[in-house]
Amino acid sequence: MEHHYQSPWFIEALKEEGDLKINQLDSHLNTDICIIGGGFTGLWTALKIKEKKPTINVIIIEKDLCGSGASGRNGGCMIPQSTKFQGIKKIVGLEDAKKIVISTEAAVNNIKNYCKKNNIDAQIRDDGVLYGATNKFHKGAFESLIKDLNENKINSWQRLSKEKVQHLTGSAKFIDGYYSPIGGSLQPALLVRGLKKTAENKGIKIYEKSGALSYNGKKEIIIKTKKGSVKCNKLIIAMNAWTPTLLPFLSRSVILVSSDMIITEPIKNKLIDLGLTNGLVILDSNLFTHYCRTTPDGKMILGKGGNTFSFRNKVIDSFDGPSTIAKYLTKSLNSFYPSLKNIKISKSWNGPSERTKTGFPFFGYHPKNQNISYAFGYSGNGVLTCYVGGDILSSMALEEQNEWTESNFCKGPLELFPPEPFRWLGAMLIRNAVRRKEKLQEQEKKPWWIDKQLAKLAVSVGRVDFEKKEVKN
Ligand SMILES: Cc1cc2nc3c(=O)[nH]c(=O)nc-3n(C[C@H](O)[C@H](O)[C@H](O)COP(=O)(O)OP(=O)(O)OC[C@H]3O[C@@H](n4cnc5c(N)ncnc54)[C@H](O)[C@@H]3O)c2cc1C
Repeated sequence: MEHHYQSPWFIEALKEEGDLKINQLDSHLNTDICIIGGGFTGLWTALKIKEKKPTINVIIIEKDLCGSGASGRNGGCMIPQSTKFQGIKKIVGLEDAKKIVISTEAAVNNIKNYCKKNNIDAQIRDDGVLYGATNKFHKGAFESLIKDLNENKINSWQRLSKEKVQHLTGSAKFIDGYYSPIGGSLQPALLVRGLKKTAENKGIKIYEKSGALSYNGKKEIIIKTKKGSVKCNKLIIAMNAWTPTLLPFLSRSVILVSSDMIITEPIKNKLIDLGLTNGLVILDSNLFTHYCRTTPDGKMILGKGGNTFSFRNKVIDSFDGPSTIAKYLTKSLNSFYPSLKNIKISKSWNGPSERTKTGFPFFGYHPKNQNISYAFGYSGNGVLTCYVGGDILSSMALEEQNEWTESNFCKGPLELFPPEPFRWLGAMLIRNAVRRKEKLQEQEKKPWWIDKQLAKLAVSVGRVDFEKKEVKN
């Protein structure tokens, strides 16, 4: 069967499955709960619902294959929400902000234990996360964050010496940095396909190549696909980038932008020479962060967000193709690791990442029907947060009153972007300013005042600014 351009993760995961068995929806079914979207969010939600209420009937319908969206092609970097703590706190308050930090940190072990229990080999290596400074403007960037996390007794970050940072990252480009042992990397497509198999084993019915075309918002909800339909009492929308196609009232709540990635050929010995032998996630401190990690079979992966912004949040064709900035990413890789200069890049790819104005996801109910709930806006930080999203959405669908359903995360979008064309034009203006600013900073030069002001707007739309306010030479 032909599949559209996919990440090496997804190709590897499908290969492991051997003959693909695709169950398409071609009849008219009844169920208690129907979930649209078979990525991390849809699958974790279904699994949590079944765990809480084993007798309940759950159907997932997926327009392509489970994991063919962001879940099967992301960087596999497990990064908790702790670095966003200060920004989140300002919007949802201290208690909710603490809750999301604690729960996304706990998700590392929860996912690991879940995989172990259910025989999912997602190549999890929980060796932590390191944010490094590549110029003087980023030195000491986490001091205020750490103070705040410490005051709230939820800090896992520590500043390392320059020597230690260079030792852990294998890169002389880093001159300072912060490390947390909570986090690491995994193979995302093996995880999502493993969750699919587990879900089926637990009695959850999954229909692939069965996209939802429409639904009605009545008491008895009916979702229509090309060849069939599902009648249900509760509907959960877990469609990520595609959400506004069924929920247009959410179209101003996110901006869709690519996250772009490259992967090298196997270079195990070179990685050993660099000291890169574990699953540590390494990031720089730019607004649109470079992130990199190795794979257990000795490849290096590097990615960066914030390149292609789509107009009107359309999931454009280029999101399903090679990265348009593969050359730039290769240059970045070489600048971190000059010894990898002649290494072959075996593939590049990208995908749509939905950024909210607040920088964190939101959950909510359809304004006209409380039986329809949704999750949206993981903002490039979904591997761990989708696990928590499963807790939240399952609670909403089962009408539980708990710390999540009563939290500010379940009040829908808390901030909106301007309408088009201003959203797209603004995004391009800010993206280009951030690029100019960071290019000059890399050369240890002062950025232009106007670009600094424009970059501040990126911070106000949920990017984390790891720049220290005052730089003293
Ligand atoms: C290239 C890239 C790199 C990333 N790197 C990281 C990272 O390293 N760490 C991290 O934490 N996060 C990362 N992210 C973000 C993370 O991948 C996402 O937040 C997460 O996968 C979202 O999961 P989801 O289930 O909500 O969405 P998805 O996995 O996108 O699932 C949504 C599903 O809905 C389906 N769908 C859409 N329309 C319909 C329809 N009409 N009917 C039925 N089904 C439909 C889609 O086919 C898709 O399978 C990255 C994202 C991208 C794109």
